Amino acid sequence: MSTQHPGLIDSHAHLDGRQYDEDRQEVIDRAHQSGVSHILTVGCDLQSSQASIELAQRFDQIYAAVGIHPHDAQECNDAAITQLRKMQRHSKVVAIGEIGLDFFRDRSPRDQQREAFRRQISLAKEVKKPIIVHDRDAHDEVLQILREEDAASVGGVLHCFSGDLQMAKDCLELGFYLSFPGTITYPKNEAAREIVKAVSIDRMLVETDCPYLSPQKFRGKRNEPAYVRYTAERIAEIKGLTFDDVARVTSRNSFNLFGIGDVDQTTQIAYQIRDSLYLNITNRCTNACIFCAKFDDFVVKGHELQLDHEPDASELKRAIGDPTRYDEVVFCGYGEPLLRLDLVKEIARWLKGQGIKVRINTDGQANLVHGRNVLPELSGLVDAVSVSLNAPDRATYQMLCQSQFAEEGYQAVKDFLRQAMDYIPEVVASAVTYPGVDIDACRAVANELGVEFRVREYQEVG
Ligand code: SF4
Ligand SMILES: [Zn+2]
Ligand SMILES: [Zn+2]
Repeated sequence: MSTQHPGLIDSHAHLDGRQYDEDRQEVIDRAHQSGVSHILTVGCDLQSSQASIELAQRFDQIYAAVGIHPHDAQECNDAAITQLRKMQRHSKVVAIGEIGLDFFRDRSPRDQQREAFRRQISLAKEVKKPIIVHDRDAHDEVLQILREEDAASVGGVLHCFSGDLQMAKDCLELGFYLSFPGTITYPKNEAAREIVKAVSIDRMLVETDCPYLSPQKFRGKRNEPAYVRYTAERIAEIKGLTFDDVARVTSRNSFNLFGIGDVDQTTQIAYQIRDSLYLNITNRCTNACIFCAKFDDFVVKGHELQLDHEPDASELKRAIGDPTRYDEVVFCGYGEPLLRLDLVKEIARWLKGQGIKVRINTDGQANLVHGRNVLPELSGLVDAVSVSLNAPDRATYQMLCQSQFAEEGYQAVKDFLRQAMDYIPEVVASAVTYPGVDIDACRAVANELGVEFRVREYQEVG
């Protein structure tokens, strides 16, 4: 397991601004010292796009985007598009932006803004680079243009996202990322924090938009990339994650979108989220749930989980390292851990010997797999078990979870939950908020069985 702290990526800065003319090098050094691994500096017109490229050329950790901001839409004529087309050929230009609509300041006539936005989306499609979208008080039209121009084919990010929840959902559906700046730290900005809470971190970027939008701590002063950490800290707080979790996931998102940064793509057998250590011991499963995220990719909270082999006990112990560093150790991963019952027992015994809290996340069909009640074998080795109930009846369960035991599966899950209470101190049934799943009905089943019930947000894995 990697114990290195992941770096943050400031996905939107304006480092060419004259505000940095006196101390640009120091600003860049400070970013590096405070754990910002990469910075994307974004053009607003031809001149700043060129300046951004020059910065990217000078500094390894800086990348550039070229584009014409809606404020300067009047500049976006044929010659300018030709110029941008030429500029984007530079190997460190990773996006077209920032482009979009600004109906708040209306510095350019709206028709020209629309035209410039559309033309630059076309350019992005032609050169196959993602777009960085600026949207101020123009939510509906931004969405409409993104759809009409098929911007989803290149993807991109809505930077300084300021729309409501519906807009967020629409953008995510189009495959866009949402980026949040330091304004989420302002005491009165509860609305933005609500959006952060509702949006999966797997689709978020962090940015400063410096020199503007300083976080609360430096409000009213010049902003700089080092301060992106205050945004990440606040996101961690809102999402109940650690700072490292936010850094790892958002950096991976920037890597996926812009190809910036170094992402650990090695398979993790033991991986940390919050203060828990998760064990990824198999990718096999007795279910094939239609909402299982492993069918998209095998990444959970920035950790790659696709195994090329199933680890044995000694490999697993090596990956765990010192288990006393964690609040608990959880058998989880993309697969059903109790398919490897012997390994689970061996490792759980080893962990319990060191006083570690052990939990198993399971689909609850182990007794069918092994042809006996395995729960007595787990007694004294496991402190908690979390069982995916997921449905209030067996037809729905089979439709969602596609158990290899067909409709027998659901009854087995319920029996497992009921029997588990005799052997394991903490037993929880869970359900995913997949569209159409009646959560209240699932809760009623859990109540009837006498076990605790927990709701897990769909698309929020790990
Ligand atoms: S039980 Fe878990 S790992 Fe297995 S298919 Fe369902 S969601 Fe995926
Ligand atoms: Zn902007
Ligand atoms: Zn900007």
